[in-house]
Amino acid sequence: MLQKSFKKKNSNFHFRDGILHAEKVSILELAKMTKTPFYVYSATALEDGYNALVSSLKELNHSLYYSVKSNSNVAVLRVLSQLGSGMDVVSGGEYLRARKAGVPGERIVFSGVGKTSEEMTLALTQGIRQFNVESIPEIQQLDIVASKLGKVAPVSIRINPDVDAKTHQKIMTGKSENKFGIPISLAEEVYNKTLEFQNISIVGIDVHIGSQITDLKPFKKAFEKIADLISNLRSSGQNISRVDIGGGIGISYHRNQADPISPNAFSSMLKSIFGNMDLEIQIEPGRYISGNAGLLISSVIFLKEGSNHNFLIIDAGMNDLIRPALYEANHELIPLLSHSDKSPKMQVDVVGPICESSDVFVKKAVLPKLCSGDLIAIYSAGAYGAVMASEYNTRPLVPELMVKGNRSSIIRARPTIQEVIDKDQIPYWLR
Ligand SMILES: *Cc1c(COP(=O)(O)O)cnc(C)c1O
Repeated sequence: MLQKSFKKKNSNFHFRDGILHAEKVSILELAKMTKTPFYVYSATALEDGYNALVSSLKELNHSLYYSVKSNSNVAVLRVLSQLGSGMDVVSGGEYLRARKAGVPGERIVFSGVGKTSEEMTLALTQGIRQFNVESIPEIQQLDIVASKLGKVAPVSIRINPDVDAKTHQKIMTGKSENKFGIPISLAEEVYNKTLEFQNISIVGIDVHIGSQITDLKPFKKAFEKIADLISNLRSSGQNISRVDIGGGIGISYHRNQADPISPNAFSSMLKSIFGNMDLEIQIEPGRYISGNAGLLISSVIFLKEGSNHNFLIIDAGMNDLIRPALYEANHELIPLLSHSDKSPKMQVDVVGPICESSDVFVKKAVLPKLCSGDLIAIYSAGAYGAVMASEYNTRPLVPELMVKGNRSSIIRARPTIQEVIDKDQIPYWLR
């Protein structure tokens, strides 16, 4: 019988009595307690994203490793870890965050092109499910480190399938000109070379072609190439028991639109390609789980009316959410208090306070007329938001809050400006 699939809901942020709520908590109340800007995450939305994927994969031998880099707050990791999620990390720091959240080493996979010996040692000492390795020098180094520790490192080799993921060029990773993975044409040679290393044990193969992919075709193309390669590798005696297919499943950046890829369609595609290959399918989603589970809440500082251009200057900037500046991303902006359709409108460029012309959230937004002190929510800010923030312009990193039902909690506090400044030290000869 077909399992009833779990559908991801986008209703964890919704209006109630004219006020935007995160689950059952009024964001207006949160804003009274915590100065803007701040991030707010819905724990239920994180769970929904995880459950939607896992339930669609039910019929396959699968395991899920949440991509920590999309949102690495330890509270976020804890929510997912409690559901049984594994973690995909790309640094020693992320590895330690996952451990702090309660994830055992056996549920952590280590990705990334530039792992240091120190990071390899950390993972081998504290436990790791597999290293996704990306080059021969990395294999050589991992073998040396493992040998010193008297361990054998479990390895999957990341293959670059030379497939265009049809996404923004700064987040495509599976073309031959990208730095990631071993070119597919060299894959068999590299796998054979691993036989020379005593402290490396091949467990599988890995691929990740990019992020915010909104169509199944590039995935299908890449996975078919990988499936062929697995058959070839197996006939030359390699032990390929796992295929790690990476992350990259895109989401909707419009509040009222469904996600572009349905988990069921994605799973069917996986089943048709890998279903009869006796493989464990590993998946590393980030954005799909965290992206629509968070908002960035900001206040209007000024409405600056010009001769032919109006600017809404808000207190969140590109240092808090860099996606518009870096990836030309469009995030929907919604006033925290609902306005009737008849209320007067304005056309504005919504900009931050940073001294850079790229500090723009949206150009020519049509919004209800707002003024200083009014609050707005920047949608779909849960992934690649807080994790990419900086203190540029000496602005402290903004706090993060989490809501679950009618409960809310600060999951990262705002440092004081003094704490930010006190990290600098004047050298003794200038004192
Ligand atoms: C970034 C990344 C992911 C997650 O990508 P999403 O688009 O957020 O799902 C998964 N695997 C690897 C190796 C990555 O670098």
